Amino acid sequence: LEVIASVEPRIAEATRQELADQRGSLKLIASENYASPAVLLTMGTWFSDKYAEGTVGHRFYAGCQNVDTVESLAAEHARELFGAEYAYVQPHSGIDANLVAFWSILAHRVEGPWLERAEKKNVNELTEADWEALRRELGDQRLLGMSLDAGGHLTHGFRPNISGKMFHQQQYGTDPATGLLDYDVVRAKAREFKPLVLVAGYSAYPRRVNFATMREIADEVGATLMVDMAHFAGLVAGKVFTGDEDPVPHAHIVTSTTHKSLRGPRGGLVLATEELAPSVDRGCPMVLGGPLSHVMAAKAVAFAEARQESFRGYAQDIADNAKSLADGFLSRGAGLVTGGTDNHLVLLDVSRYGLTGRQAESALLDAGVVTNRNSIPADPNGAWYTSGIRLGTPALTTRGFGHDEFDRVAELIVEVLSNTTAGTTKAGGPSKASYQVADGVADRVKAAAGEL
Ligand code: PLP
Repeated sequence: LEVIASVEPRIAEATRQELADQRGSLKLIASENYASPAVLLTMGTWFSDKYAEGTVGHRFYAGCQNVDTVESLAAEHARELFGAEYAYVQPHSGIDANLVAFWSILAHRVEGPWLERAEKKNVNELTEADWEALRRELGDQRLLGMSLDAGGHLTHGFRPNISGKMFHQQQYGTDPATGLLDYDVVRAKAREFKPLVLVAGYSAYPRRVNFATMREIADEVGATLMVDMAHFAGLVAGKVFTGDEDPVPHAHIVTSTTHKSLRGPRGGLVLATEELAPSVDRGCPMVLGGPLSHVMAAKAVAFAEARQESFRGYAQDIADNAKSLADGFLSRGAGLVTGGTDNHLVLLDVSRYGLTGRQAESALLDAGVVTNRNSIPADPNGAWYTSGIRLGTPALTTRGFGHDEFDRVAELIVEVLSNTTAGTTKAGGPSKASYQVADGVADRVKAAAGEL
């Protein structure tokens, strides 16, 4: 930090403060974690200075031999860790990984066959009229994914997102009575809509998914099954999700982030079958800019960590702790979407406390509990104010929290929410943003959280 401070002291100070904040609060954001010192240090090296567009052994720049070593090792670790046929470690983030997957599916299933039918070797031989026809066909494809309010991600076909614009889209939700995925409904929608891409995976669904069933549905309608395991990759790596719950043997293509439950550097990952590998391998430069070689190196380190036996224990602890947290809420009368969890996250319905998600999130932050507000199915407060709080266990599990600590976390959260009231607008109406925490509660909870 002294070196940074000699150039821009405010950045050094913000960095110091970030460390203090992350250590001094309860980090319950389901998509966050604490990467190891080895992972963090690997990101701060000279690989940051290197351009390496292209792929291993096929670069558009000279002098990439060390980047080739890094990328090959990261891919090898990812393949071994997940039992995948092929791994692509360049995506800069989860969204980038999804864009690479969309492009690869379109290239493999639409562009390739189109060129073959037109008897063209590659796109360089196309006339203007050919381009128009190819573009029309590429733009005419369909995608079916999980809706945002049911727990899906923006990139799973949410209409305002690019995924909802590059594809004709439809969405599946969850059962209004149980909050659970209903595979018969997904199947019926798929039969009717006949998507090219069926997307499974989630950001805020507190349950496991049966990927064997999703594959059956995809096969029935001729869709490519894409699973976005960004949130639960750590549980797949740690063999908590096996058999039908492991997406890798069932999906044609799997995308992920590397920084959530997987506990690596911020970044993305694509796993694919041999069949899709050649089009995924062209992700850079077709979709992505030059790879972040320093981050690929840190991915290799993180995957090597996840291949150690101890990571399995960590992954199991994440799931066990989520159950302890859920039980802690339920025993104190709180309402959970789907009535519980069997993955790494819990979705708390805060409308029972007369609060919006935004009010609950702010009140908890005052008490040193860091969460994020989240829509619940059919949320009356929309995606900005919301009626839910999403809580995940990966970060505090990294800090060594177990059953007792997570039970205490539930108790502290209930204490804050039960002592928070919704505020009023300037005009005197009910506010969805302002709130009041009863005197002394935030400080008391902060102190108690500090003791954990
Ligand atoms: N996919 C899922 C399921 C996610 O939950 C997220 C992030 O929250 C992403 C993709 C996007 O990841 P990133 O923020 O790294 O682009």
